[in-house]
Parts: sequence; structure tokens; C-alpha cells
Amino acid sequence: MIIVLRPEATEAQVNHIIDKVKALGLTPHVSKGSERTIIGVIGPEDILRVTPLEVFPGVENVIPVLSPFRLVSREFRKDDSVIDLGKGVKIGGKEIVVMAGPCTIENIDSLYEIAKEVKNAGATVLRGGAFKPRTSPYSFQGLGKEGLQMLREVGTELGMVTISEVMDSRDVNLVADYVDVLQIGCRNMQNFNLLKEVGATKKPVLLKRGMASTVKDMLMSAEYILSGGNFSVILCERGIRTFEDSTRNTLDISAVPVAKQLSHLPIVVDPSHAAGKWGLVPALAKAGVAAGCDGLIIEVHNHPEEAASDGAQSLIPENFASLMGEMKAIAKALGRNIL
Ligand code: PEP
Ligand code: MN
Repeated sequence: MIIVLRPEATEAQVNHIIDKVKALGLTPHVSKGSERTIIGVIGPEDILRVTPLEVFPGVENVIPVLSPFRLVSREFRKDDSVIDLGKGVKIGGKEIVVMAGPCTIENIDSLYEIAKEVKNAGATVLRGGAFKPRTSPYSFQGLGKEGLQMLREVGTELGMVTISEVMDSRDVNLVADYVDVLQIGCRNMQNFNLLKEVGATKKPVLLKRGMASTVKDMLMSAEYILSGGNFSVILCERGIRTFEDSTRNTLDISAVPVAKQLSHLPIVVDPSHAAGKWGLVPALAKAGVAAGCDGLIIEVHNHPEEAASDGAQSLIPENFASLMGEMKAIAKALGRNIL
């Protein structure tokens, strides 16, 4: 951490700060320039994070040197993390993993039909919500445990990895009993108790970026999970709120390279919740692959007009299959592959 003092800081003020730094068990290194003095502080920065040095008289600015997220940072691990999702599927390596399925699990027959289609097209992970975070309390809230049972049954039958959202810390063990990957939805990205709870499990976690959160906020949330002992975290860019109203959210494509620079964790793109309209999904999905994402999570429904939720942004299986073909070509050009 570097403390930059004001040009008019007095000797007494500088000494007071030095004494404070030493009292905290840290080592100050003072550099006196012709204009102003700076103090480099060596030692665990966390101690200073809770001590607001900015308020000391004579201080102009306090600049942290280390990133506040430690375990998720590239400094902690230089190589990309590769996370084993089970059933032979790994994410974070050369292979781009495609997760697909309905927004909400509606019944076993439709889930099975959709799952067969997405599997045939090359998806290896089956998505389906059982606990749904709906804006309106009057909208369909999901099938709960019954939905999880259907997801497990279909996933086992087809040999697909399964992913479903957990919304409440009281349901973490229940959802973890049924699915291979726990999804934390964007509305819960900063539900720190829920993050601690999934951090205490051994299940891989897909952490979706909050709609009004920065990439760094997302990494701080991931840090909660890793610091709880669970290093199997996958980040997810799903669009953020901006003033643009042509799409449901704005896909922040730069989040992919930014997260890759700052962190060793894999990152997935969700073009469906970003676009909000199925016609825009293929372009955003392909942009995600081109930007270097490690996976995609895409909503697919065989009868979108009858879907219990997010039908407008769901691809029909035919369109999903042609998108897979296009994404494979882009992946190949970049030295990666899908399936
Ligand atoms: C979902 O994946 O169905 C979902 C609700 O996503 P998000 O949390 O990104 O809105
Ligand atoms: Mn959805």
C-alpha cells in the first residue's frame, strides 16, 4: 500500500502516520521528494483496509498494491483453473463447454425432449431451474424438489452434467444432493450467507454476475466461495443493466478478457439473459466464443411460446444446433474446440 501525502503535510503529520503504521505492526518506507512525501507500507494490507488512513490529516490518497481478491487472482495462481464437473466434463481448458436447456423445468417429458436435442447438438451440461427468482411473486416459481428429481433423472439417463440454481442458503444441501453444479443467480451474487454456504460444499459453483455489479465485485463474491474451501468456481457474464433498452441487459463482452486477466477462474457467457430475445442470442454467443470464454449457458425450449419462463429468449433446438456448428468453427479458428 502506498500513502501519498499532501504537499502541505507537516513533519508532525508525517510522523504521526509513520507511528500509526508501525503500531499496526507494518513497516513504513518513507520517500521524501522535493514536492511531497510518499510512504510505502510493507506487510499484510488487510490490516490497513479496515483502518481509514485517508482521514488522517496530511494524507491525500491511499493506493492499495495488492488486489483485494487473493485466492481468485492471477497472482495467486498463474495457470488457468480447470474444474471437473463430473461425467468426463472439464471446464477451463481448451474445450469450450456448452450448457443448455430450459429456463424452468416444467415436466419430465419436455425436459427429456429438450435434453436429447441439446445433447445431440453437442451440449454436455443440462440446465434447468427448479427454484426460480421471478420478479413477480405471481409468476411461476418453479417445481422445487420435484423439478430437481426430474433433472437428476434426465441427466443420469442421458449422461449429462446437470446445473440448477439455488436461491436460499437453507436449500443448498437439497440442491447439492440432486445436481452436479450449483448456480448462484445474478440477484444473489452478493448474498454473502448463500456464498458462504456453497463455499462449504464440494460442488462446482457457477456464479452469475449481478446486473449492477462490476467484474471486481463478482471476483470479490467468488473470493467468498474460495475462502470457504471450495475452489471449483465458474464465473458467468450474463449482461448488466445499462441505459440501452434494445436488449434485456447489455452483454459486457469485455468482462471475459478482463476476468481472464485478473483471475484464473473459468468464465462462461450467458447470451440468453443478456439478449432477452432469441434472435439476438446467436450473435452474442459467437461473440463470447471469440472473446475467449470457457463455456456458454444457453436457454433452449422445444415450444418457446408455451414456456413457463423466458420463452422469448429461448432458442428452438434447430436454431441451437446451427449455432453450435457456427461456434465450433470459431472455436477451431482460435485453437479451441467444442466437444
Ligand atoms: C437463469 O439462469 O434462469 C436466471 C434466472 O439467470 P440470472 O440469474 O442471470 O437472471
Ligand atoms: Mn431464464
